[in-house]
Amino acid sequence: MSAHLSDEQIAAALVENPAGGHLEECTECAQEAARLRDAIAGYAQEVGDAVNARDARAWSAERQDVRRRVRSRRLRAALASGGLAAAAVLAVWLALPRPGPVTSPASADLDHELLISVERSLNRGLPAALEPAQFLVADVRAAARTTPQ
Ligand SMILES: [Zn+2]
Repeated sequence: MSAHLSDEQIAAALVENPAGGHLEECTECAQEAARLRDAIAGYAQEVGDAVNARDARAWSAERQDVRRRVRSRRLRAALASGGLAAAAVLAVWLALPRPGPVTSPASADLDHELLISVERSLNRGLPAALEPAQFLVADVRAAARTTPQ
């Protein structure tokens, strides 16, 4: 029987020719090859688990980041479209106490007096350039007559 295989030879035998050669004849080297195969399989399993865990953490972090960005984008879009601002203004407006319609007889009288004085000044002989204003005055007068006060 030849000398036992080195670790490198056992590894090469596992890769190139898993069955056959010295490994089939020598129980000691076959056990060493089996131990090495198990160690490699265990290492591969650990590496795979670590990669999966890292990927899972990375994907989880990525998902959370995307969710955060989507949420803040939705909020910004809502603010940009004025939806929230309009809703806030509407809520404040609805919450405000409603005063009744304020009518001031004094201001109505003042408006009427102003209208009359404007009419008088317009009727006092106009330059030709202001003649079209007479039609406006006539319209305002007609409107004043038909509008109940
Ligand atoms: Zn051997």
